[in-house]
Amino acid sequence: MSTLEIRDLHVDVANNDVAGEHIEILTGVNLTVKSGETHAIMGPNGSGKSTLSYAIAGHPKYRVTSGTITLDGENVLEMSVDERARAGLFLAMQYPVEVPGVSMSNFLRTAATAVRGEAPKLRHWVKEAKTAMTELDIDPTFAERSVNEGFSGGEKKRHEILQLGLLKPKIAILDETDSGLDVDALRVVSEGVNRYKEREGGGILLITHYTRILRYIKPDFVHVFSGGKIALSGGPELADELETNGYERFTKAETTA
Ligand code: ADP
Ligand code: MG
Ligand code: MG
Repeated sequence: MSTLEIRDLHVDVANNDVAGEHIEILTGVNLTVKSGETHAIMGPNGSGKSTLSYAIAGHPKYRVTSGTITLDGENVLEMSVDERARAGLFLAMQYPVEVPGVSMSNFLRTAATAVRGEAPKLRHWVKEAKTAMTELDIDPTFAERSVNEGFSGGEKKRHEILQLGLLKPKIAILDETDSGLDVDALRVVSEGVNRYKEREGGGILLITHYTRILRYIKPDFVHVFSGGKIALSGGPELADELETNGYERFTKAETTA
């Protein structure tokens, strides 16, 4: 049983236009994600959803000015990016990076070695990776291609879910895993996430702008993000309301505040 706990988190980024100045993006986020729970974070573009995922993952551009993030009581903010991964945090980014010259199979085995603390036995690993790839309808030849280089949006997302299945984190943060996917790819990716839920019983933070993916991955909690914090939390019915009414009432509140 694991718990990711975020308390009154404030995060800023350097203002590219004014040297030395920072802009506050997260303005006091409170959120608790436990094993077996799926939390959907929804909200308009620019509300700070990706900033939250980067802050949890330890991206150097995002500066935590106050508040806390803990995983099972351990201070995540004191951990390096690698240590966060070893502790059981996983981030699938909205815009996955390309790593030319590093094959998928090497990359995945290195990542698995780092997270597990020892290199998986080669014979077992080949089998394990192959099975995971088959489950996600990934062509075996992809194992030899450079990480994400020239991959389509859908292929990148499949590879993230492949990592999720192989790395078996305690808490997975999926940032717009649904963006740019056609219906078939969305189904395959969602099934991969649901398999992770069933097999590992991990906690999921599913960040999305659209309600579409929530037809395939059922959230236990839905949070609306607005102005750098959670403006409203509810159950799955909140997603239905957003599907009907959009984010207007939240963005309005933001501009008149
Ligand atoms: P979302 O994922 O909800 O669309 P983001 O977290 O990407 O929102 O961005 C929130 C706000 O922070 C936006 O206004 C965005 O322009 C700003 N922002 C994010 N990253 C940076 C950055 N590195 N430099 C300047 N502004 C940034
Ligand atoms: Mg505050
Ligand atoms: Mg985003």
